[in-house]
Amino acid sequence: MTPQARHDFFARLQAADPHPQTELRYSTPFELLVAVLLSAQATDKGVNKATARLFPVANTPATILALGEDELKEHIKTIGLFNTKAANLMRTCALLIEQHGGEVPRTREALEALPGVGRKTANVILNTAFGQPTMAVDTHIFRVANRTGLAPGKNVRAVEDALLKAVPAEFLLHAHHWLILLGRYTCVARKPRCGACPVSDLCEYPDKTGDA
Ligand code: SF4
Repeated sequence: MTPQARHDFFARLQAADPHPQTELRYSTPFELLVAVLLSAQATDKGVNKATARLFPVANTPATILALGEDELKEHIKTIGLFNTKAANLMRTCALLIEQHGGEVPRTREALEALPGVGRKTANVILNTAFGQPTMAVDTHIFRVANRTGLAPGKNVRAVEDALLKAVPAEFLLHAHHWLILLGRYTCVARKPRCGACPVSDLCEYPDKTGDA
């Protein structure tokens, strides 16, 4: 894709949705961290339902630790892998208190040292909570980057690096959200809705559909 096409691609996504938001509900960096930790192999809707029960009761490392692991599990048991996620969250809360004064750290290194936090989660926190231009590549972004020819790559890290180079600087902060939403609702996995796609003429996918 040419530099002009890449610019137009994001300019159109921006025009359609100037202030894209994550669909996870949160009001503090810590709440976002909890929501992202719970979201592996779960839908944002499912996570939002669980955190709507959890956050009024406990929404800081200290209050989640005070709740205890069994009680925490009760609040999140509707989410897949909740046993592992509860254990990781308890250890993460303890580390946040011991090493970071109960705050969510702002560096990749410190974030990735937390139990259950990998590169993708760290990227989401750095971008969405702290406004850093990182690129958290999930299954939707991986598909869109490859199909469109925007930033092809064999694995998520290759796509992350390619996107950081391919996305014009002015769009980098929100690019992650625009690409997720494009992949989630339009460039869907089985049969993309190319007939309803705002970047159809820029996209290089050879098997476009007429579906709207
Ligand atoms: S034109 Fe089709 S394949 Fe290309 S980004 Fe849009 S929905 Fe995806």
